[in-house]
Amino acid sequence: IYRVQVIPFWSEKRLRGAVMVLQDITEVRRLEQMRTEFVANVSHELRTPLTSIKGFVETLLDGALEDKKVSQRFLSIIDAETDRLQRLIEDLLKLSHIESHREAIFQGETDAVPEIYRIRSLLTPMAQEKDVILHFEVERSLVLVPLTSDHLQQVLVNLVENAIKYNKKGGVVHLRAFQKEGLVQITIKDTGIGIPEESLPRIFERFYRVDKARSRDIGGTGLGLAIVKHIVEGSGGTIAVTSRVGQGTTFSISFSSVNNLTRT
Ligand code: ADP
Repeated sequence: IYRVQVIPFWSEKRLRGAVMVLQDITEVRRLEQMRTEFVANVSHELRTPLTSIKGFVETLLDGALEDKKVSQRFLSIIDAETDRLQRLIEDLLKLSHIESHREAIFQGETDAVPEIYRIRSLLTPMAQEKDVILHFEVERSLVLVPLTSDHLQQVLVNLVENAIKYNKKGGVVHLRAFQKEGLVQITIKDTGIGIPEESLPRIFERFYRVDKARSRDIGGTGLGLAIVKHIVEGSGGTIAVTSRVGQGTTFSISFSSVNNLTRT
């Protein structure tokens, strides 16, 4: 897409010529469109739980409150929808914080080993509830990674949570952290439902979900992987994904190790 501007130049009241300026505004338009889509998506995502909350509150006020069983059921729906709104707002804040403090992300230095074990403890109850086995294999001599501990946690929680959420009963999540060719690599492999090939390039987009209803049902905001990608790439790392429908998915992240700061 080009913006065309024609600037004539005159001398002694006669048109002597003109300059035509062609400006490539494809990127500007693309960014504008992305912003518009994002605002529309956010509004939609916020409105859905709000509409539901309002509906149930009104029904309660209209008399359903008299029936204890019904009101308990409605209140627990309101509670769940409020949780959803909260998660969504937290994820949106995280995303905008990351985007506006990009340079800060580069300043971190974290020993990944204790963080990884912390994530395992944190997510063990969720895995047990879903009947998924967590199998973690971490090289003890892992060097420091160039992220803040907070960001490393966000990345790992989002990836391991997804590996549990989109798994099958009795499935496995296998996390490996190791060093290879001067890089620290963390792979999170699951034996879950997998991601169709045509969706793979899109899963890091904000609000993109392979199955919207399923993601909503299990409490997803559609922002987790966008946050992960921002943090990893903002820290100079890379993220890759491979998947087979019905068999499972593997996310691999890698960082260059922080120089001369090996763990003791
Ligand atoms: P959500 O909050 O919906 O989980 P994410 O940004 O974390 O959002 O992930 C985007 C989408 O990518 C998910 O809705 C899901 O369809 C797919 N996805 C992410 N991780 C996995 C996984 N480990 N296995 C299968 N599908 C996944």
